[in-house]
Amino acid sequence: MKLSDELILASLQPHARHVAIEVVQETGSTNADLLARIGQLQGPVLRAAENQTAGRGRAGRSWLSEAGQSLTFSLAWPFGASMSELAGLPPAVGVALAETLGDWGIAVELKWPNDVQREGNKLAGILIETAAAKSAQAESIWAVIGIGLNLAVPPALANEIGRPAAGLPELAGKEAGQKRNRLLAALLNGLASTLHQFEREGFAAFAERWNTRHAHAGQMVSIIDHGKVLHEGIASGIDRTGRLLLDTVHGQIAVIAGDVSLRAKE
Ligand code: ATP
Repeated sequence: MKLSDELILASLQPHARHVAIEVVQETGSTNADLLARIGQLQGPVLRAAENQTAGRGRAGRSWLSEAGQSLTFSLAWPFGASMSELAGLPPAVGVALAETLGDWGIAVELKWPNDVQREGNKLAGILIETAAAKSAQAESIWAVIGIGLNLAVPPALANEIGRPAAGLPELAGKEAGQKRNRLLAALLNGLASTLHQFEREGFAAFAERWNTRHAHAGQMVSIIDHGKVLHEGIASGIDRTGRLLLDTVHGQIAVIAGDVSLRAKE
């Protein structure tokens, strides 16, 4: 069974029912589609693609997927113009995904700043892009939250990714289609309550919840920018604004996400 807007809607909780649901067979990037429409959107929209052919990651990287083997979707969400602090949004979204998967009995870890891992390998990526929109009544900042979540990782896809990737093979088989629709609805329920809480309380409400799932807690890591090592140290956790706290030989520093990546030291 394919993704279906009706099935997703049927599993939404009241606090997420104001989100418009769109399912398309194929598109380049659900993030790009929604960003192009920001000026015309009346409220939150979830756009999911059965097949995403040009999925985006951070800093021009790609998110790869095969038709029907993953969930690839974006949620466009308006924040009031006074919402100045969106730096903590990617890790807050990571917490939302981890908590929803946890409710499904799937344990995951979080890799700073924006990945969800399973047994050390990447299961889901998060890419958040923002845009401002002005209407006669108000100005809003829109976040377009793009998520790619592997269900199966067939050999051809694994080859193309070139790095170990994780999936959710327990959702395959009989009733897989139904489970995909239910999981997408559950993720949207979790995201909607996260975004409401984030708007009220900022990332502070999520820091502890992130730290309990920190994939690299106490481990020696490098922070890399365009192939260059910027910092090395022991990852001690995330702070109340979403920065990574790193214990270096020069003392503790707080690293801002920007475009940097984290690598565990061998
Ligand atoms: P890094 O993981 O290096 O810190 P990042 O978190 O910035 O990078 P993203 O922008 O979230 O990475 O995702 C893009 C990267 O994810 C790609 O460069 C590729 O290595 C990896 N990738 C792409 N598709 C998949 C997939 N389906 N499953 C797992 N990993 C993938």
